[in-house]
Amino acid sequence: MIIAIDGPAGTGKSTVAKMIAVRLDFTYLDTGAMYRAVTYRALETGTRLDDAEALTRLAQSEPISFAPGGTVLISGEDVTAQIRTPEVDANVSTVSAVPGVRQALTEQQRAFAASNDVVMEGRDIGTVVFPHAEVKVFLTASAEERAARRASQNAQRGSGSTDPAVILEQIQERDRIDSTRATAPLKAADDATVVDTTSLSIDQVVDAIASLASERGARDPQKA
Ligand code: C5P
Repeated sequence: MIIAIDGPAGTGKSTVAKMIAVRLDFTYLDTGAMYRAVTYRALETGTRLDDAEALTRLAQSEPISFAPGGTVLISGEDVTAQIRTPEVDANVSTVSAVPGVRQALTEQQRAFAASNDVVMEGRDIGTVVFPHAEVKVFLTASAEERAARRASQNAQRGSGSTDPAVILEQIQERDRIDSTRATAPLKAADDATVVDTTSLSIDQVVDAIASLASERGARDPQKA
C-alpha cells in the first residue's frame, strides 16, 4: 500500500508521516530530503543552478539512500545535517524545478516502493509519482502557523532563522516557486483528502490518516 502525503512547507508532513509509518509498520520516505541532497551536492561542487543538463547528470549519477534513524546519503556519503542549512533551503526550489532532476528522483522513489508498504511525503506524490496511491492526503495550514512551526523547529535544530516574519517570507517564496513550476507543481490531487492542520493536534491528523488507511485495508494495531 502507498500512503501519499503532500503539501507545502511547515504543514507538519514529516512529523505526521513518520508517526503513521511507525503506527502501521510502513517504510517512511522523505522525498524533500532527496531534492535537498541533490541541491547540497550541486552547491558543494559549484554546479551552476541554471545549468539544467549538469543538474540532471548529477541527479542521475549520484544515487540517494536512507539509513535507519533518518540518515540521508548521497553516493554513500552521510549528508543528513548538510541538507538542512539555510543555503539549501534557499536553493532547493530552483533545483527541484528542473524536469531531468525530477525524472531521476521520481524513478528512485518508485523503486523504493516496489517491494514495500510506504508512507511517502513530498509535493507531487499523489499527482505524479503515485497517481494510483491507495491513500492520498494533502495537508494545509495557514501561512502564519506554518512559519511559527518552522521557527520552533529551527530553534530546536539550532540552524536557520527563528524569526517567524523572516521564515514566512522564505516559505512563501519556496511555495510560490514549487506551485508555479511547469513540471509536477505543488497541488492537491483531485482525489486527495485535504486536511487543514492549522488548529488540529498532530495526534488528530495522524488518527485521520490512519483511518483512511484502515478503510483501504491497512491493519492499524491501535484499532485492533
Ligand atoms: O519537504 P521539504 O520542505 O524538505 O522539501 C524541500 C523542497 O524540495 C521543496 O520546497 C520542493 O522544492 C522540493 N520537493 C519537490 N517535490 C517533492 C518533495 C520536495 O519538488 N516531492
